[in-house]
Amino acid sequence: MTFQPNSPAARDVAYVLHPYTNFVAHEEKGPLIIDRGEGVYVYDDAGKKYIEGMAGLWSTSLGFHNDRLKQAAMKQFDILPYYHTFAHRSHLPGIDLAEKLISVAPVPMSKVFFNNSGSEANDTAIKIVWYYNNALGRHHKKKIIGRVNGYHGITLASASLTGRSMNHRGFDAPIANFIHAEEPNHYNNALEGESEEDYATRLAENLEKMIVEEGPDTVAAFWAEPVMGAGGVIVPPKTYFDKVQKVLQKYDILFVADEVICGFGRTGNYWGSQTFDMKPDILVCAKALSSSYLPISATLINEKVYEPVKNASAELGAFGHGYTYSGHPVCAAVALETLKIYDEENIIEKARDMAPVFQKQLRSFSDHPLVGEARGVGLMGAIQVMQDKASKKPFEASAGVGPMIANLATEEGVMLRAVGDSLAFCPPLIISESEIEEMFACFRRGLDRALDHLRKEGQA
Ligand code: PMP
Repeated sequence: MTFQPNSPAARDVAYVLHPYTNFVAHEEKGPLIIDRGEGVYVYDDAGKKYIEGMAGLWSTSLGFHNDRLKQAAMKQFDILPYYHTFAHRSHLPGIDLAEKLISVAPVPMSKVFFNNSGSEANDTAIKIVWYYNNALGRHHKKKIIGRVNGYHGITLASASLTGRSMNHRGFDAPIANFIHAEEPNHYNNALEGESEEDYATRLAENLEKMIVEEGPDTVAAFWAEPVMGAGGVIVPPKTYFDKVQKVLQKYDILFVADEVICGFGRTGNYWGSQTFDMKPDILVCAKALSSSYLPISATLINEKVYEPVKNASAELGAFGHGYTYSGHPVCAAVALETLKIYDEENIIEKARDMAPVFQKQLRSFSDHPLVGEARGVGLMGAIQVMQDKASKKPFEASAGVGPMIANLATEEGVMLRAVGDSLAFCPPLIISESEIEEMFACFRRGLDRALDHLRKEGQA
């Protein structure tokens, strides 16, 4: 495509290197430029309106125009626009936010470390796990178990923990000490007729085998999202986390909950850990912590982890880790205001009340000829398409059916993300009943267009 000289599209193609983008395709297609937002909607630079079915990147919980968050940022800019928290320095927004996070944590937690992104929060947690074991003299207990299709970010360590080949290929990842257990995907991976409970038992047994084969003295931590988000909204089978946690306890392996997507009401409770009865030693959160208005993330550790880390920091002179923007005061003030809004405006309760409406609409797609499974919990879900749903035959990955459906749905007015052939939904928590209906109506039009197209091509 040729772009108008000096237009935003031409300048984008000329200068911007986009994350998660095929650069050759981008030079051909150019960008979709988003201009402004309002409630659950965003508008492109031609004025076309889209309902944000993914809350941006699973993150803008309060929608795209929240005045209280704007005011909180402005106020903090006036008081103190920047200060750091290195070497005993502190500031009130950071202190208040840490106290608030400890008070709402799903299990007793001791301390909060601030970072800027989910990836960094996981990186911090990985480093704390290693530091902790070094402090205890367990210098070989360093392996970290993630899961196939788990997503924990893209810094070199968090990308290594991530269990998706697209985040490894070409980047020399995973680095040493990261291994991946099976994903708990009942629809795709359970045996014929295997119940969720039996499947969960098998997964826990396989995890134990893996730990024993690796050597329990070499395994430091197990990482899990309550619901795998970027891996395709994989809701764990019943009893899974209960069985997994028993194995971890047996071998003294730390349990880390990555609540970057599931935290703050997404699964119907404040934390995904509450929905799935997880009792993590370390909890990582980001995204909806500030409704993504400003970048901030947090790594919470319990007392068991803190104690040895504290002593080691004294022996070594200091805990040699921290970001220039750890606990940035404006980001912290906006995050604190976000959490206040969740409380004062009952956002999490309202999202829980809206979940049955969302799940019913989502599951109404099960009858569609292309849909193999419609799954989800709370206000997140996915619709997985299949070439032949009766025999669970998937489309060839190279056919790009998922991305094609996402593109058609976007043309029909809903922003969506394809994870392979699963179309993910994760709207702002403030979405109303009529907006949920509108979102799925747009999606249905896109899906039907995809079906027509695939039928014409003899693929469906
Ligand atoms: N963990 C999970 C569960 C995530 O979904 C993501 C981002 N989608 C991350 C970590 C990484 O967060 P960020 O993109 O802010 O680095």
